[in-house]
Amino acid sequence: MVTTVTEGIERVVISAEEIARRVGELGQAITADYRGGAARDSRRRPLLVVGILKGAMPFMADLVRALDLPIEYDFMAVSSYGNGTSPGEVRILKDLDCAIGGRDVLIVEDIVDTGHTLQHLLAGLSARGPASLRVCTLLDKPHRREVEVPVDYVGFVLPENLFVVGYGLDYAEVYRNLPFVGILKPAYVREE
Ligand code: 5GP
Repeated sequence: MVTTVTEGIERVVISAEEIARRVGELGQAITADYRGGAARDSRRRPLLVVGILKGAMPFMADLVRALDLPIEYDFMAVSSYGNGTSPGEVRILKDLDCAIGGRDVLIVEDIVDTGHTLQHLLAGLSARGPASLRVCTLLDKPHRREVEVPVDYVGFVLPENLFVVGYGLDYAEVYRNLPFVGILKPAYVREE
């Protein structure tokens, strides 16, 4: 029997309409910043927008279309592993196709939680000598931060300690295709 993807959802936390409105605002802010002096590339190559797979995919697709700038885009895939004993360990599953030396780079993330994933990414990318490196995340959980990381653009701050799914965010790889961000019904969360 085919079920629906919304069946497991307890409630919507951020609606598709709220996401669309906020993505438009972020697009305008980023456009204004890079037109107005954030760009540092001396050769004036287009801003490189780097989406972090898989979670940032829907956000990235909407955000790049809200930018009124010449851009290029590329993707990286990373996976955090370990069971909490080594949260700093982040593995690169897919690296960038292009070099970023001297270029303006904007990382697009789905969510910043403890900050370990982003810290690792930023360290690795800074070492390649970009002209500038900024971060845009759809969601932020600042109260969960374990390491300090600079985040330049935030879509929404999650006020409570919620585990959310949808609009790219998964639970066991499912729910990424929801058009909104929501929380799961307890019955749909497996006991660990
Ligand atoms: P960090 O390294 O900042 O702790 O973790 C970032 C990663 O944790 C995200 O890319 C995401 O995979 C996962 N994560 C953190 N909070 C949530 C959440 O509320 N929902 C989902 N689906 N993933 C989350």
